[in-house]
Amino acid sequence: MKNQMHVTATRHFQRSSRPTCPSHQSVDLLWIPITAVTRHVRRQPYRDTEPMASLFTKLINGEIPAERIYETDHELAFLDINPKSRGHTLVVPKLEVASFHELPPDAACSLVVTLQKVAAGIVRAMGTTHYNVVLNNGAIAGQIVFHVHFHIIPRYEEADRSRGRGLGDSETLETVGEEIRRALEHLEAG
Ligand code: AMP
Repeated sequence: MKNQMHVTATRHFQRSSRPTCPSHQSVDLLWIPITAVTRHVRRQPYRDTEPMASLFTKLINGEIPAERIYETDHELAFLDINPKSRGHTLVVPKLEVASFHELPPDAACSLVVTLQKVAAGIVRAMGTTHYNVVLNNGAIAGQIVFHVHFHIIPRYEEADRSRGRGLGDSETLETVGEEIRRALEHLEAG
């Protein structure tokens, strides 16, 4: 009986630790390369019935400019306007939800798959395997924009201070974005 209970508990643990991942997880098939030409083009509004679109929804819809580096049907990645290090990127779901725990499981799974893909592009482009993945959830935790987003913040050797600070003197977000876009295109091409 004791063994039986143990087996049951183990099975339950295994089931709950391996959630079914999303119906729309095949994000790699939906990848759209973002070129310098299309980057600032106004896109079809994702939701046009939302009375108060978040800053990031406006950005997703192309209503405000951004250095867009990667896009799927469900997520957008773009450079943080105030980078903590060179290549600091935000990855957001197109679904406008304030809190991570409120995201539908499909959207959460898809977001993490895209997060990992963008991280791989940043590693390749920025030449470092060191980075922080951060999600600030709620004002007390430091959330300023109430639309779920992951930060990917590359980290560099102490000696390489200019990259650790953000942008170098002669750099723009555009030049950094171009490097990451190119790296992602290489990864996509296999
Ligand atoms: P959080 O504290 O996690 O809500 O961080 C919000 C982040 O959004 C900050 O790092 C900002 O620099 C960044 N941010 C705000 N407005 C923009 C924008 N228009 N484009 C890109 N990043 C932005």
